[in-house]
Amino acid sequence: MIYPHMEDNFRHKGLRKRLVEEIKKKGINQQPVLDAIESIPRHLFLDPVFLEFAYQDKPFPIGCEQTISQPYTVAFQTQLLEIKARDKVLEVGTGSGYQACVLLEIGARVYSIERIKKLYEKTKLFLPKIGYRPKLFYGDGYKGLPTFAPFDKIIITAGAPFIPDELIDQLKPGGILVAPIGVGGVQTMVRWIKQLDGVLTKETHGSFAFVPMLENKSEE
Ligand code: SAH
Repeated sequence: MIYPHMEDNFRHKGLRKRLVEEIKKKGINQQPVLDAIESIPRHLFLDPVFLEFAYQDKPFPIGCEQTISQPYTVAFQTQLLEIKARDKVLEVGTGSGYQACVLLEIGARVYSIERIKKLYEKTKLFLPKIGYRPKLFYGDGYKGLPTFAPFDKIIITAGAPFIPDELIDQLKPGGILVAPIGVGGVQTMVRWIKQLDGVLTKETHGSFAFVPMLENKSEE
């Protein structure tokens, strides 16, 4: 079915090319990541009246006080994950689903959890319409997805006060976990690599601003 308001035309494609040039200048250099950004129609993740914002390198509100992350940030976190084809990836914070689509485009198998039911439902309905089918779950990212573990990679896309032990446990030996850590407006991008013997190494990769990860709370 063709959705008239879901058009992806030459203008959109041109704007995406420009966006890709911009994030390349900012240091994104993995070609599969750049290709994913170039092929995903980010304007369709926003309300059509905000088209002019879709291809600026900025985050944007998606309702429920949440945001679609800035393209540079999505690309940066994706690069840190060093995705290989068929990697099983857990994303905490589905939001608009844009990051999940980037992961799918570069060949990952994606499992994504969202804490806000309205966003979960909206994204679950929307993504198949543009041809993307990650496995989406309504639940609490602090708990991960024990039934589907272990994962090759884990990415958190909200500011986390700490990394829950559950998520570390759900990471394969040799796996990578990337998360913005910190409370308040600014977080540090941290990458943990689980060595084959289970020992974790930790690296930091600069400052970013994410919406906060929602506290572990009972069902709404
Ligand atoms: N990856 C998203 C970015 C969304 S912003 C995108 O590409 O659009 C962060 C998201 O994390 C929000 O949708 C928020 O509701 C969700 N979130 C916050 N706390 C969470 C938790 N404990 N478990 C799962 N999702 C959570």
